[in-house]
Amino acid sequence: MVDMFRDTWAEINLNAITYNLEQIKEKLPEDSEIMAVVKANAYGHGIVPVAKQALASGATALAVALLEEAMLLRKASIDAPILVLGWVSPAYASVAAANNITLTFFQREWLEQLSGTAMERPVQVHLKLDTGMGRIGVRAKEELIRILREIEKNKNVKLTGVFTHYATADAEELDYFYEQSKRLEELLSVFYENWTEPVSMHVANSATSIRFPEKTHNFIRFGISMYGLYPSPVVRLENKISLKPAFSLHSKLAHVKKISKGESVSYGKTYTAKQDEWIGTIPIGYGDGWNRKLQGSSVLVAGKRMPIVGRICMDQTMIRLDQAYPIGTKVTLIGEQGEDRIEMDELAMYLDTINYEIPCMINDRIPRIYQG
Ligand SMILES: *Cc1c(COP(=O)(O)O)cnc(C)c1O
Repeated sequence: MVDMFRDTWAEINLNAITYNLEQIKEKLPEDSEIMAVVKANAYGHGIVPVAKQALASGATALAVALLEEAMLLRKASIDAPILVLGWVSPAYASVAAANNITLTFFQREWLEQLSGTAMERPVQVHLKLDTGMGRIGVRAKEELIRILREIEKNKNVKLTGVFTHYATADAEELDYFYEQSKRLEELLSVFYENWTEPVSMHVANSATSIRFPEKTHNFIRFGISMYGLYPSPVVRLENKISLKPAFSLHSKLAHVKKISKGESVSYGKTYTAKQDEWIGTIPIGYGDGWNRKLQGSSVLVAGKRMPIVGRICMDQTMIRLDQAYPIGTKVTLIGEQGEDRIEMDELAMYLDTINYEIPCMINDRIPRIYQG
C-alpha cells in the first residue's frame, strides 16, 4: 500500500470481476476458454490484482498490449499464458521467449530478422489476420501462404495460435461484421490447407463474445465487460448479459462555505452564484485525470446530485451543495451512493467519448483500493 494522505481514491470491487466472468462463462460453449484482457493497467483497474482475480475466477490466459505489461505480470509471479496483442520489435523476441510470453506476429520482415539470430529457445507467436480492422495483421491469401512457408523453416519461432479482431462487433449495423467473418473463413481455409500443426483460434472481444458466443472458437479475449461495462450502448440495450461495474471513484469534502449572490467560483470566473449558495471543494482535478471538460456534470453527496461549478483545477474541484455538509462528507464521482449512481457511460456521453476511456483516464495519482 502507498501512503494515502488525501481522501481521494478509486475502489475496485474484485468480486464484480468474478461475477462478470461467471456471467460470460455461462454463455460460452464448453470448449471456449477466457483470455482476460488486462492491457493499460487493466483498463485503469490495476493490472496485477485484476489478473490474479481473473485467473482465480476461471480465466486461463491473459492478454496485454505491450511486452512491458507482460513482464510486470511475470515479475508478480503470474505464470499463466500471456499474449501480447500489439507489435513488438523482433529485437525483444528473446526477452519474450525467455519469459514464456507469446507475441503477436504478422510480418515477413519480422521473421527474417529472427532467422539470423541464435536464440536459446523459440518464441511462441500467434498469427494475426487482418480481416478488416485495418490495424495489424496479414491481409492477403498469397501473403499468408508465403508467411506460413517461412515460419515453418524458422527455428526461432513457434506458431501456437491464429486470431483476428472485429471492427464493428458492438455496432447496430452488422453487415461489415459478417463481411469480416466471411474474409476470416476464406483466410482460415487457406491457413488449414497450408498448416497441419495444432493452433488455438480466437476472434472474440467482449462485444463478439456477448452477441455471438457460438462464434468464439478456443478463446475469447474479454476486456471491457470483465470490468462490468458494456462495449457500446447498443450491446447494453440488447440486455444479453448482466454485468457489475468494478470501478468507483470517491473523495471527501475538504472545504464548505457559503457564497453570496453575484460571487464567482474558480479560474476565469465562469460560474457566478444566482443566489446565496453553499459551495464544496473536493481534492481532485485534471492532474488526477479528472477531465476539465466535466465542468457542469454532477457528483453525489448524501445520495443526491450536486453540479460541478466553475472550472476544474489541476488538484481541486468545486461543487454546488444544496445545504451545508460537514468537512469529510463522502463525495462519489463514479459509482453508487444512496439511491443514485453516476455511471461511466454517463461520463463518457458527457465527454463525447466511450466508457473504455473513463477508467483509463484516472491516473495513478489516485490510489486503487481493492475489495473482495
Ligand atoms: C483490447 C482488445 C480486446 C478486448 O476488447 P474489449 O472490447 O475490451 O473486450 C480484444 N482483442 C484485441 C486485439 C484488443 O486489442
